[in-house]
Amino acid sequence: MRGQESRSSSSCAACKLLKRRCSPDCIFAPHFPSNDPLKFAIVHKVFGASNVSKILIEVPIELREDAVNTLAFEADARLKDPVYGCFGAVVLLQRKMTELQHDLAIVRSRIAQFAAASSSAAAAAQSFTDFGHSSQSYCQGPLDHEPIGEFSQYL
Ligand SMILES: [Zn+2]
Repeated sequence: MRGQESRSSSSCAACKLLKRRCSPDCIFAPHFPSNDPLKFAIVHKVFGASNVSKILIEVPIELREDAVNTLAFEADARLKDPVYGCFGAVVLLQRKMTELQHDLAIVRSRIAQFAAASSSAAAAAQSFTDFGHSSQSYCQGPLDHEPIGEFSQYL
């Protein structure tokens, strides 16, 4: 009796929901642990346990976890959006991507405008600096007076 209890408590989520004994070679057990009953519940509700079992048998063992996660994702999407399912999510993401690409194009255009304005402002500043260098010979007077001002306190 105690052994049966421990065996039933170690049943996978699929076997618990289907109310059957979970065998050591249960195809659901590696992918539907008993601590996550919702995962199998939604997959079973949308695809049916028999179809999920047939799908998993056809999939190589190393890819079964990905297949189960894909089925769970698709089932969840189908329950949330019965008409479009995953396609609804794809369309929504494509629409967002188009909007973001549009925004990105606007931002890149503004960056290019600012870069052009900045380079023209830098060119103007450069020509102003060139003008300052050419007129430096006229401005040496104040530089010559500065040391005098510094020494003027000793006078
Ligand atoms: Zn099982």
